[in-house]
Amino acid sequence: MDQNFLFDILALPNSSLQPLFDILTNPDIRKILYDGRMDFCALYHGFGVKLVNVIDLQLADVKSRHVRGETHEKQSQRQRRCFSFKQINDPRNAYKYDDVHVLQGLGPCLVDHQCMSTSPKKHVDHETWKERPLSPQHLQYAAHDVVLIDILHSCFLQDGYIDSELPSQSQLYVSLWSDAPPHPDDIFRSHPLLPLDILKTNPSSPKLTCPGCARLLSLPCFPVRVKQSIPAHLANHCWVCLAVPQWLYMMRVRKEQRERQKAIRENENMRRGEATAALFGGYSGSYTSPGRSTFVPASPSNHSSSGLESPLSSPMPNGRGRGQSPRATWQPSRGTGQSLRGTGQPSRGTGQPSRGTGQPLEVQGNPFEVQGNPLEVQSNLLEAEAIVGNPRK
Ligand SMILES: [Zn+2]
Repeated sequence: MDQNFLFDILALPNSSLQPLFDILTNPDIRKILYDGRMDFCALYHGFGVKLVNVIDLQLADVKSRHVRGETHEKQSQRQRRCFSFKQINDPRNAYKYDDVHVLQGLGPCLVDHQCMSTSPKKHVDHETWKERPLSPQHLQYAAHDVVLIDILHSCFLQDGYIDSELPSQSQLYVSLWSDAPPHPDDIFRSHPLLPLDILKTNPSSPKLTCPGCARLLSLPCFPVRVKQSIPAHLANHCWVCLAVPQWLYMMRVRKEQRERQKAIRENENMRRGEATAALFGGYSGSYTSPGRSTFVPASPSNHSSSGLESPLSSPMPNGRGRGQSPRATWQPSRGTGQSLRGTGQPSRGTGQPSRGTGQPLEVQGNPFEVQGNPLEVQSNLLEAEAIVGNPRK
């Protein structure tokens, strides 16, 4: 039977880790990774351990796109996750993105290759990976990742994507940051695009150092013949580093759009709250206005009798108490086969769970709005009712 082992390299002394390091540095033992750049970086800069004989499935995924006969249109579709449609389809710019490949995460990759029908990735608070002891959710996440990597590896083996060149290309890929760990503010290293000269190499070409990513790259990685159309401050940058500011710009635009939509939703919720308060007249719950989109129903029974209840403010199907936030008691399924039964664990959403009538129920962080599509949420509600009954009936 296959077994999954987790090694906590922050908690264990180096002497205990030596057998593990021996495996990682053994050229005869293959290591399968998904975007192993940070793994390599942490081991190399933190412990002096050089990971060798690796297969990076994220790289294999990008490589498979060519093998799968992916068209330019499909490549553009992927690029639209990072760039504006106008930018990548404008004939004056389109050629700049020919060698720009968008990386994807493990979950979407499994779906893309039809290894799974929905993204199976669980979510944890990545800000707390350095805290000890690790939470059960973090341990489960880490173990689950290994299972998913194994599934993807099996798919790729079956589909013939693990070719003879992949190990050397993977080694190059994972060791990209062997000079220094990437600083989070270094946009030319921290981006979702495949760096150049990893899959397509030009050994005989003259080399230039890109001022952005600071890598020595072959001449075809640079826009040598079309320099006149490149902004002066980006002159001499490689194709990927030229695209990075555009990606950053799009991320900012989309973030602003999300914030605007969030503000509109908050205003809408505030108006709904005011309408409810007006309807009840002497509303007995805590209600904050103006400028806050939060309120707590006085009691579930009162609230549901108003005829204005929404999934955001209604008592939860398990009926665990008045004023209790849904996030504190159960989480809707996201199609991963997780049970809807309450775990008692508050989710790590944007707000704190409300545990009584004195605390507001935060509307903005409600998982119904953020995580699911309406059909899925409706289906989850029906499923939850089947499990625990509907207290409103
Ligand atoms: Zn560059």
